[in-house]
Amino acid sequence: MTAPIIRSLPELRELTRAWHRAGEMIGVVPTMGALHQGHLSLARIARAECDRVITTIFVNPKQFNNPDDLKNYPRTEHEDARKLAPIGVDVIYVPDGDTMYPGGFATNVSVEGLTDCLCGAHRPGHFDGVATVVSKLFLQTSADKAYFGNKDYQQLQVVRRMACDLDIPVEVIGCPTIREEDGLAMSSRNLLLSDRARIFAPHLNEVMEAIATAFAEGKAMSDLSGPAIAKLEQAGFTEVEYLELRAADGLGLLDTPSEHARLFAAAWLAGVRLIDNIDIPAR
Ligand code: AMP
Repeated sequence: MTAPIIRSLPELRELTRAWHRAGEMIGVVPTMGALHQGHLSLARIARAECDRVITTIFVNPKQFNNPDDLKNYPRTEHEDARKLAPIGVDVIYVPDGDTMYPGGFATNVSVEGLTDCLCGAHRPGHFDGVATVVSKLFLQTSADKAYFGNKDYQQLQVVRRMACDLDIPVEVIGCPTIREEDGLAMSSRNLLLSDRARIFAPHLNEVMEAIATAFAEGKAMSDLSGPAIAKLEQAGFTEVEYLELRAADGLGLLDTPSEHARLFAAAWLAGVRLIDNIDIPAR
């Protein structure tokens, strides 16, 4: 049976108040829909760890800095509800634009520092949009635990910082990136890739894994990034926005994994922006 879809905030609050009164722990999985196995893995982890699970679906206009990207973002609500059914989430919360941003809405949540680099530098306003909507979703759902993918590692760090700074009593949990068999990180945007682009897309992860192997042989990012970008361009990527090694904690730029790090990439393939990141142990 598919979980009930709730669109109104008072209705959601009535439920969550009853759950809290009964001493139940609430988990939330915020998404923008077009659900794939990556999202479903978060819902499964939440299901295993919490008494009640809310999956939210809201395509947040405030985090899109490109109107075409927002217009083309896939929307598949019925299919999403069908995919969540076997996991047994309690509620799917699908607020509309007026519920999230009613007339007169004037507040912006902005996390400094962590948002200066990577996607923050290339998508102006993106993380303000994320921090604003996620803080609202945390307060609306009053969740005890929130599940986010390492796939969007910078986002995960930003959300953690925001919840801590605003004293929102929610534990933010990072979950593993789920990949296709050929290594491509699952993403709702993969639906926008042409058949031909889909063949070349896994090169992004392949190139990143090759860099990870080279670190283990003592090489540095300053030697590796030029040839890696050239390889991606040969594979049809039109623009590599960034390919950078950064500290896992704090996101400071690194040349070698002198501390626990992550390798981050964003690149355009046939009009679709792909991002990925992988764990790089300190050596
Ligand atoms: P989105 O719908 O793209 O906003 O993503 C909603 C949540 O799903 C975020 O916490 C993402 O990090 C997470 N997510 C997206 N893709 C994956 C993936 N391939 N593996 C794990 N989590 C993911």
